[in-house]
Formats: sequence, structure tokens, C-alpha cells
Amino acid sequence: MRKIILIGEPVAHSRSPLMQNAALAELGLPARYEAVNTTSAELPERVAALRGADYLGANVTLPHKQAVIPLLDRLEDEAARIGAVNTIYKGAHGELVGANTDAPALIMDLAEVGFHPAKRTAVVLGASGAARAAAFALAHAGVATLVVANRTLARAEELLADLLLAITDEQGLTASGEVPPAMIALELTAADLAPYLMGGGLLVNATAVGWREGETPLPNPPVDAQNLVYDMVYRQTLLLRESAAQGAAVRDGLGMLLYQGALALQHWAHQPAPVEVMRTALRGAMR
Ligand code: NAP
Repeated sequence: MRKIILIGEPVAHSRSPLMQNAALAELGLPARYEAVNTTSAELPERVAALRGADYLGANVTLPHKQAVIPLLDRLEDEAARIGAVNTIYKGAHGELVGANTDAPALIMDLAEVGFHPAKRTAVVLGASGAARAAAFALAHAGVATLVVANRTLARAEELLADLLLAITDEQGLTASGEVPPAMIALELTAADLAPYLMGGGLLVNATAVGWREGETPLPNPPVDAQNLVYDMVYRQTLLLRESAAQGAAVRDGLGMLLYQGALALQHWAHQPAPVEVMRTALRGAMR
């Protein structure tokens, strides 16, 4: 039996083992996915152990998505630009490679509800690892305006400065020769965000707020029937309920969890992931 582990703290609540073990069984792979609680002090030895032949790779979650980077041999381009890793796999020579599958997973799940970011406005709440992945993914997908709003304004400014540096050349153009999106850093208040959500566009909650009932990063969200509100938290949060009450379309983060897992599995298994089996397992785990 080969092993794939989820490295984080805490990880006991994670739905990934159920989803990934269902997929591994479907593919007939002799491997097992297991969540392994890992403190910061334990992180170096946990990552070093992945070099053993019995490991196929790992997922990385809170709070290690950035701290794990110096322990790896190389990063995929997107993970390097984002500065956060959620997947570790082995390269052709057994080297440990860091990838970020959160970013493409968000875009894939948005497509599933018919939202295509090109030329749209997107407002991202938060400035930590998940928000960085969202901001980079949305910029890459061609949004016209990107707003990052965070409780600590300086972190939103830093995120956008990093993003601008990562996606533009000396002429200030993107790799495809276009001008980058307009980028605005804001504090996290409904009054500041309202002008950017007027007339449509996407609001993404990528803060850590929403897991506990009754908490929301943005009370009275300034949205209406033209907005899509996406919450990376995978439950019907207060933000989603308040947004739906205003007429907005809403989506929780379960689909993003599904697609980040499917993309990670493809790295470990070198074959397409059984997405529907994984979706069914995840939904079962939510009951
Ligand atoms: P994190 O590092 O804990 O996120 C911290 C962010 O949340 C910071 O921007 C922080 O603002 C903000 N924050 C924390 N407490 C706050 C409060 N009381 N009010 C306002 N803002 C607050 O977590 P992360 O790794 O970036 O993940 C963020 C969320 O995305 C988590 O809920 C995670 O579960 C979810 N996620 C979901 C998926 C998925 O597949 N669906 C994937 C990745 C992450 P400051 O900078 O001001 O401290």
C-alpha cells in the first residue's frame, strides 16, 4: 500500500480522506489517503518522509501552505507566483514538486455555475493563502477589475503588489500582451465594496470567517440579483444566506474542494480523476 497524506493542523474534520479514498478505490490503485495532524515543528520531518518510496505525495493545508515551500525541490510556475502550495507530488527524478490546485479549482467551479471571469469585476475578501490563489486565478482568467478587501489593508496592498509584479513584464503588460486588470485594495466594509459590486460581478469570500454559525466577514453584503457570491467555506454560510436574500446567485466552496482534489489526484495517479465518484463521496461526507 502506497500512502498519500494530508499535512495540516487541525485536520481531523477534513473531508479529503473520504473523497480521495473513494477515488483511489475506483481507480483500483493500491494506495491510501490519510490526514496526519502536523505541527509547525513536525513539518520538516513530515515532508522529508515523503521522499520514501512508500509515498505518492501529499496535500498541504492550514497553516503550512507557505511554510512548506522551502522544504520542496521545486515549484510549478503557478504555485511559485501565488506563493502557496496545497499539493506535493514527485517529479520524474523523484524530486518533491509543489503545486497549487486551489487556483484552477476555483475557476473550474465558477465555470460550472456559468461564471466566466474574462472582462468581469471580481471582489476577493481576504489576503491570505486562499485569497492569493483566488486573486491570481481570477487575474489569469482575465478579469477587468480585481478588488481585494481585507481586515488588514496592508496585506491586501501587498497581495496586489505581488500579483502585479508576477503577471507583468517590463512594459507593464501580461504574458499575452494585454494590460493587467485594474487592481484596488480596500478595507473590508460594505460601503467601500458597494461601488464595485454594482451592476454585476463576483464576490468571493476567501477569509477564514464563516465556519462558525452566525459569523460573516461582510454583514449586509451590498449585492443584488446581478451578482454571484462564492464562499470558499463549504457550508451554507451567513454570507451566502444574506446574499441569497438580496437576490444574488450563491455557491459554496464544495465544488472547489472537489476540483482541487481531482487535480491533485491526477498528479499522484497520472490518470484522469473519477470526478463524479469524488463528488458523491464528498456530498455523502457533508450529511
Ligand atoms: P487563513 O490564512 O486562516 O485566512 C486568513 C484570512 O482571513 C486573512 O485575510 C484574515 O484577515 C481573514 N480573517 C481572519 N479572521 C477574520 C475576521 N474575524 N474578520 C475578517 N477577516 C478575518 O486561511 P486560508 O488558508 O487563506 O483559507 C481561507 C478560507 O478558505 C478558509 O475558510 C479555508 O477553509 C477556505 N478554503 C477553501 C478551499 C476549498 O477548496 N473550498 C480551499 C482553500 C481554502 P487579516 O489579514 O486581517 O488577518
